[in-house]
Amino acid sequence: MNAIRYTIVPKNAAAHLFEVSLTVAAPDRSGQRFMLPVWIPGSYMIREFARNIVTLQAFNAAGRKIAVEKTDKHAWATAPHDGPITLRYEVYGWDMSVRAAHLDEDIGFFNGSSVFLAVEGQADAPCVVDIQKPAGAQFAKWRVATALPEARGTKRYGFGKYEAPNYDALIDHPVTLGEFALGSFDAHGAQHDIVISGRVSALDMRRLEVDLKRVCEAQIALFEPRTKKAPVARYVFMTVAVADGYGGLEHRASTALICNRADLPVTGRPDMTEGYRTYLGLCSHEYFHTWNVKRIKPAAFAPYDLSQENYTSLLWLFEGFTSYYDDLMLVRSGVINVTEYFALLGKTIGGVLRGSGRLKQTVAESSFDAWVKYYRQDENAANAIVSYYQKGSLIALAFDLSIRTQTAGKKSLDDVMRLLWQRYGRDFYDGKARGIEESEVEALFAEATGADLKKIFRDGVHGTRDLPLEALLEPFGITLAADIATNGTSGKPSLGARVRNGADCVLAAVHENSAAQKAGLSAGDVLVAIDGLRVTGSNLDTLLSRYLPGAKVEIHAFRRDELRVTQAKLDAPEVSRYVLSIADKRGASKPHRERWLNG
Ligand code: ZN
Repeated sequence: MNAIRYTIVPKNAAAHLFEVSLTVAAPDRSGQRFMLPVWIPGSYMIREFARNIVTLQAFNAAGRKIAVEKTDKHAWATAPHDGPITLRYEVYGWDMSVRAAHLDEDIGFFNGSSVFLAVEGQADAPCVVDIQKPAGAQFAKWRVATALPEARGTKRYGFGKYEAPNYDALIDHPVTLGEFALGSFDAHGAQHDIVISGRVSALDMRRLEVDLKRVCEAQIALFEPRTKKAPVARYVFMTVAVADGYGGLEHRASTALICNRADLPVTGRPDMTEGYRTYLGLCSHEYFHTWNVKRIKPAAFAPYDLSQENYTSLLWLFEGFTSYYDDLMLVRSGVINVTEYFALLGKTIGGVLRGSGRLKQTVAESSFDAWVKYYRQDENAANAIVSYYQKGSLIALAFDLSIRTQTAGKKSLDDVMRLLWQRYGRDFYDGKARGIEESEVEALFAEATGADLKKIFRDGVHGTRDLPLEALLEPFGITLAADIATNGTSGKPSLGARVRNGADCVLAAVHENSAAQKAGLSAGDVLVAIDGLRVTGSNLDTLLSRYLPGAKVEIHAFRRDELRVTQAKLDAPEVSRYVLSIADKRGASKPHRERWLNG
């Protein structure tokens, strides 16, 4: 099969335009169709990237124009034509996220799903992409970072030709262009690169290399305890550091991340900050996806249909379990300690138990509806939906603890992950691709562990009953308690509403059956006074700390431009986190606990 040849050049950084061309040697003679994905795998929302294609033209081998027309929101078709066709188009890139494309004078970044049109009928054709250097002296030091393999003649990190065996691979390797800091480490024989772009001073790259190596090696050893074989020969962590950002997207041999520059480690300051822990957790999360969702996949994603929503009820397994293991791998690899790990767990438990949406939607339903609910949250989200990330990670915890207790420590959730890997993941890109069906999951868990997990499946995955975490933690010598005293306003009553950041006290969300809701307040309302005292975006907690739960207060608030006066009876303090404590430090539960936390 002839290769499809793409070129991409950052044409006009000031206008944020990439110029892309693609040549099909043997197109469909009755008219060739081209399409751009409407979503990017890993981010379950229709984004319609084709809206950023500004101009598009088609040419024959002699450079003469061929008629081409748009056939729907994301597809084009040429007139019937015999012989090679070249498309030339411009893509607007002004999205500083990990999901699309971005170009300015400092950085270029793109996912293939935003810039490379697919040639209908030739998804299996090999692809060659020529990544060209932008013209101009200011770009002289720009380099290329991607996990795409270089074609012969192209130097690593250089501009030039890169290769992919098919379209699916082409768009699964994001590309960073620009001047970036570069680190590298070996994890069980595989090269791992760290690419940091954005303005970051005094970056402690050495520390990043040391910490990420530990995390990566722990994950490789989890899936391949005997061979310690990494899932890829080379892996790239690419991060853009900004003032305020957080997110990541997983790919088969790399991840694109965005973080706060303040979260990155500073040379000469070896302490573990909350920000750095968050960043390492994000790296750990995306790396775990190299196995769980990029190779072990739900049947609905094998293959992806990039023209519409792909429905699966299993995101609790692919995102939730990944969320469980991201922090667990930090503690198991020694990058954080047990106290820090328990604090993260306590925060997740608080986060899940705070929203009443958990009593209405199961994680399986939340997975299925991710496209219109989890990814499109509004002010009512906490009252209507449950996060398949957060609750999914607690389900993983419940499975893990239950399996360990039932089998006296002989089996664990790790055995489930390994069986998933052996059966569905290891050979995924070797042409033996098959995803796991929803109906196969429960039996696989039983096969891997021999444990009886029916109740967790029934109540936790397909039900809305809260997980019995206190009872599950007990055999590990760990107690669980609500924490209402850590934010310095112990016992402070609550309105049961979330306030937006800003100068005014604007309600961002109102919890169901809360004092605020009973008083008739809604998201969007601007509170101006409580008992005649002015309330702002920053002093609500201070004002409320003068009252006891159950006290009645008078609230003045604007809805649109209309002033309302209402009475609220204050709620009990809100529980935002839970505290996990080791009750029995030296007792019989110690080895059980250490096997879990040390791996
Ligand atoms: Zn994820």
